[in-house]
Amino acid sequence: MAWPTIVKDPSGFRVPPNVRDLELARGSFDWAQARAHLDGLPDGRGLNIAHEAVDRHAVGPGAAHTAIRWLAKDGARREVTYGELKERTDRFAAVLAALGVEAGQRVFLLLGRVPSLYVAALGALKHRAVVCPLFSAFGPEPIHQRLELGEGRVLVTSRRLYERKVAGLRDRLPALEHVLIVDADAGDLPPGTLDLEALLAGVSPHYEIPPTDPEDPALVHFTSGTTGQPKGAVHVHEAVVAHTATARFALDLHPDDVYWCTADPGWVTGTSYGLVAPLALGVTMVVDQAEYDTQRWLDILEQERVSVWYTAPTAIRMLMRADDEVVAGRDLSALRFVASVGEPLNPAAVLWGSEVLGLPIHDNWWQTETGAIMVANLAAGDIRPGSMGRPLPGIEVGIVHRTGDDEHPGLEVVDAPDVEGELAVRAGWPSMFRTYLHQPERYAQCFRDGWYLTGDLARRDAEGYLWFLGRSDDVIKSAGHLIGPTEVEATLTAHDAVVEAGVIGIPDPVAGEVVKAFVTLYPGIEPTEALLRELHGFARKRLGPAVAPRQIVVSDALPKTRSGKILRRLLKARELGLPEGDLSTLEGGSDPEASS
Ligand code: AMP
Repeated sequence: MAWPTIVKDPSGFRVPPNVRDLELARGSFDWAQARAHLDGLPDGRGLNIAHEAVDRHAVGPGAAHTAIRWLAKDGARREVTYGELKERTDRFAAVLAALGVEAGQRVFLLLGRVPSLYVAALGALKHRAVVCPLFSAFGPEPIHQRLELGEGRVLVTSRRLYERKVAGLRDRLPALEHVLIVDADAGDLPPGTLDLEALLAGVSPHYEIPPTDPEDPALVHFTSGTTGQPKGAVHVHEAVVAHTATARFALDLHPDDVYWCTADPGWVTGTSYGLVAPLALGVTMVVDQAEYDTQRWLDILEQERVSVWYTAPTAIRMLMRADDEVVAGRDLSALRFVASVGEPLNPAAVLWGSEVLGLPIHDNWWQTETGAIMVANLAAGDIRPGSMGRPLPGIEVGIVHRTGDDEHPGLEVVDAPDVEGELAVRAGWPSMFRTYLHQPERYAQCFRDGWYLTGDLARRDAEGYLWFLGRSDDVIKSAGHLIGPTEVEATLTAHDAVVEAGVIGIPDPVAGEVVKAFVTLYPGIEPTEALLRELHGFARKRLGPAVAPRQIVVSDALPKTRSGKILRRLLKARELGLPEGDLSTLEGGSDPEASS
């Protein structure tokens, strides 16, 4: 099914895009150039993310510029300037020094989106501790697993989160020495914890960042971990070169933007683009403490005059469920660029953006392991709805087939267009993960012949646009066809009744597997027999009988991870009566009340 290309009119840009011509930019780019946009530590003492994100802006008039515009759940708001952020992060680094924390030791963050989260992350980076952010809505078990795997020496958290989730784990976490409570003034401190504010008040407001090797570890992100043990992807300070370059290219960030990334820093998007990149580029970023709420989010876009918005397909689809009038009645005149990541962005959602927001939504692709955006639809580039876009300058992407066996692994790089295969990225970009914590063999297995193998399947068309087919684990093999769930989901969501779709393969004695779809409907639409018949016909006409779903089931909601990804694996496990795995990392899976 072909959707019309969205052609950009070069005379229609309110702000000249950072990349006008992707091919030209790709031809002339090198990473040294991107590095030159950063300062580096004074006197050639290396490269530290926090210096780039905070200190270099906190001089002269820049110190008074708002770094974080924080919106509290209860309606309060607070502006944190770059100057203030410098002092707070200096103090936090000094606190770690006073506690005897050493470079390379791990500081875990278990906090809702409150200013202290950002202070602790950046302060820890100054001290060259390694920052490990967790989703505050995780239940005790995933918290324990990650703290144990990461041998967390310090945990920064709130009193409530500590009491509900961590206190009972303490004797199983021998490495965890210091627990810093951000809101201790609410009463007595829980035993075995320290009052962060008191510690901050007792140290010097000046901290000199020690020499930092760009290869020093900076961040660990635990990947979704919905099956078995989570993996801790380790990123280094050098990653900031990719964070800033890609935010300029793919998010088109300019210094005077008001930027809102809706992702939580517990997910890599919320750190790379909800903390590091915007601050390193000196923009004002909005941080909302609350979870998704249609009216609230529209209020934020309107009242905060957000100019660049980076969000996820689920959020877009939730907005689509609201009446278009609700959105259209808003003054979103400040908004000039919208991007999305994390899940396939169905073409209907891209087009909804054009129609209702007046701006198409720019899909982009990357992973925890890549640390930064690799493939994107750019402000100045035409959009092929349903495509993730094209590789950014400095990024070489290949479609590859694994060959050989475990003993003699090989790789075939496919040159021809429109061939399906695994998406691979040529190793060596600055934000590439450097290892999986304590799992070097697993890390090594991700690479072949100088390529990083992503585990995602895709194809590239003749113009270089990449089309996502699915995670290799999610691909359906039916009667000799390889069916990517994304294509089927994109088609179902093109029907006026369907908001969201999750597609899996179920065993079939003849075809091996057949396609089964779970869909959610727009409010007010009844899941009648007639509608289901219509959906079957709609899909068959567009996809053909071999690819169209054999079964379509209407659901109230689809299971998702905390970062908003539809969990096809779980749909399948439920369908087949298999073990569901650890559900406490799912959206709504643990204790949504206790996230602050
Ligand atoms: P994570 O490491 O948790 O951020 O998940 C990365 C995975 O999310 C990728 O490997 C893809 O499977 C999926 N993903 C991310 N962005 C997109 C996108 N734009 N389209 C389709 N899938 C995506």
